[in-house]
Formats: sequence, C-alpha cells, structure tokens
Amino acid sequence: MTALLFTNARIVDGTAPERGAPMDVLVEAGRIREVAPKITSAAAETVDLGGRTLMPGLIDAHVHTIACLADLGANAKLPDSLVTVRAMKLMGEMLMRGFTTVRDVGGADHGLKVAAAEGFFPAPRLNISGKALSQTGGHCDFRGPYDDRETIKTGFALGALGRVCDGVPEMRKAAREEIKGGAQFIKIMANGGVASPTDPIHFLGFAREELLAVVEEAENAGTYVSAHLYTDAAIRRAVECGVHSLEHCNLIQAETAKFAAAQGAIAVPTLVTYDKLSSEGAAMGFPANSVAKIDSVRLAGMESIAIMREAGLPMAYGSDLLGQMHRHQSEEFVLRGQVMPAHEVIAAATFIAARLLRMEGQIGCIAPGAFADLVVVDGDPLADLALLTHQGRHMPIILQGGAFVKRTALN
Ligand SMILES: [Zn+2]
Repeated sequence: MTALLFTNARIVDGTAPERGAPMDVLVEAGRIREVAPKITSAAAETVDLGGRTLMPGLIDAHVHTIACLADLGANAKLPDSLVTVRAMKLMGEMLMRGFTTVRDVGGADHGLKVAAAEGFFPAPRLNISGKALSQTGGHCDFRGPYDDRETIKTGFALGALGRVCDGVPEMRKAAREEIKGGAQFIKIMANGGVASPTDPIHFLGFAREELLAVVEEAENAGTYVSAHLYTDAAIRRAVECGVHSLEHCNLIQAETAKFAAAQGAIAVPTLVTYDKLSSEGAAMGFPANSVAKIDSVRLAGMESIAIMREAGLPMAYGSDLLGQMHRHQSEEFVLRGQVMPAHEVIAAATFIAARLLRMEGQIGCIAPGAFADLVVVDGDPLADLALLTHQGRHMPIILQGGAFVKRTALN
C-alpha cells in the first residue's frame, strides 16, 4: 500500500465550529502517521486537496445492514443467500456515502462482518450486536396476534433482526450465545415499536430482573447493552438497570436526560427513519398498522434532540433506515442541523460515535495512529450539512484503511 500525503487540507472533525487552518496529513500502512502544517515525504504520493475539507470517515451507530425490506416480518423469511447479497449492496452504498464504519444494532452476524472486512466487496467496518433480544410480543416478535406458533430457538435467519427470549435464564443464554457468536455488544428491545405488530409504543419490554441480568451478562463479557427505547418511563428504567446505549429516545424528558447523562449513557436518535417512514413507508411496503404508529414518535423527535443537548447527554449518529429508504442515510445530518450547531451534529458521526463503539483514537478522528478512514468534501459542511447528503456527490475522495474506495480527479 503506497504512502499518501494529503496537503492543504482543512480538517472538520466535529470538535470545532470552524474549519481548521490548512494541514498536511501523512498516511502509511493504512494508518494516519502524522498531522502537521507542513510535512515532507519522498516516498509518499502527494494529493493536494487545494483547501478542500478533510473529515474522518463517518460513523453511523444505528443501522440494520440486513433490512433489505421495510416489512421486517417478511425480511426474516427471505433466504440467507438473498439477504447476504442484498446486505453487501446496502453496505457498499453506505461506504460510498462516506460511512466507513457502521454499528449494526440487530441482524448482521459475524459472517457478514468477516466478509465486510475481507474487502472483496466495498463495505464499511462493521460493529455488530448479532440478533437483538426481544420478549414474546415484543419488537422482534413479528408473528402477529393470531399466530401462536413457537418462535425459532436456534438457527436464526440472517434476515431476522432479532430473536425472542423470556425470563432470566433464557435471556442470559441468548446473550451468551450472541457473544459467543461474535456480538460486540448486546441489543435488547425494551419498549414497544413502530415496525412490530403487537406492541404499542408505551409497552415496556422485559421485566426489570431480565434487564439487570442482560446488563450483567454484557458487563461480564467486557461490553455493554444497547436498548430500543421511546418513552421517558422506558428510558429511565433502562438507565436504572445499567443500559448504556439508548436508541431513538423520541419521548425523553429533561430529568431523565440529565440522569442518563450523569450515568455516562449515550443516546442514538434516529430522526430520519420516522421522517421517511411517514412520507414513503406505505409505498415501500411498511405494514399499515405500523404506519399508524409513526407520528406518535416522529413529532416529538426534533424536540427530543433539544432536550438531550440541554441535558448534556451525548448523542451519536443513527439512521435506522429500512429497505429502499436506506438512500436517505445522510439526511439525519440535515434534520439535526435544524436544532443544533453543525459541528455538534458532525461530532455525533465522528468522536462521539467512536466513543460509543469503544474505538476512540482508532476511528472518528484525524490523528496519528488512527485508521486512515478519510473523506474529502468539496465545500464546508459546517456551513452546509447538505454537502454530506446526495449519495457522496460532494465527496471526491473516500479512503478506508489507507485505500481509496472512491477517487475522482480534483481540479
Ligand atoms: Zn433499529
């Protein structure tokens, strides 16, 4: 792998409200070696960025790479071969939007992670939970009210976001099986959901003792629990039980947000999925009973961002899109930009997400020792977050682990 020297780069990494002064960035053996105002290297190929923006590769902390259909019940019934190929396509498209790392919070297995890392297909670095854990009738139980067939206990389809388990012993075993299978954290469904048929938004998922048990299992394995959550009561209960990664949080209130911040939790709002489910969901095959639930969480979403910001609760970037709606992945930047400063929005997809993935210093930053995951942007995203949208149109160069995954001539 040739060494690369990017010169005249204006760095935007979410730590400052303005672009940095022009810098040089030296990349060797897949990593960033040096960042300084002037670097000389005889061995490296020089790429003069001419004052363009240089960002760390973006991180999306809430995706479902296997959700090729908006109807998640139908998605779980697809053959694994089809889901695999479609997931590789979805992941390639994520990478071309500048997302060099994604955290899969339900569905992707270790095989998909290895395939992504092998590099035969363009794909982001994958951080996975394996199958999400749901109670009977919870957010991953798609059987519906008149279907009492036993849920599958082993050999889960790749297209299934999650698995059903009930009671402390099953919960512990499921968590252990996911960790054995390569899960890097545990995802649970601790509140009702929009996409599932029999759990209204206000339902609490799992008993307190089940939450405590799964948190203990995750911590025993040196990791953490991420929970699907909407209501204030569900979020508070989850944080009290030690849940660390709080997904969605649309209906959070100030006191709970402050409590979560004090506990060191990180929230992962996903405004864009409700926005798109509302405008496109029905046409994309999202079931009618689920469409009816969207507005109960969508309308409070923007307000939740302001509440969490005010409370000092860190927020990582999440999109949570399904099926053909994946193409809107970058629009979360623009939605959040309506209620918070651009550099804080970008921080969600750089160092805050890196902290959540426990990869601080490795990804989400432009610093010596980090992976050379880099995105060149034409223009200043701090002035216009929409430059990060349009399927990477304003990103002439995308680098992952020191290798070009996209390289357009700079002029
Ligand atoms: Zn999700």
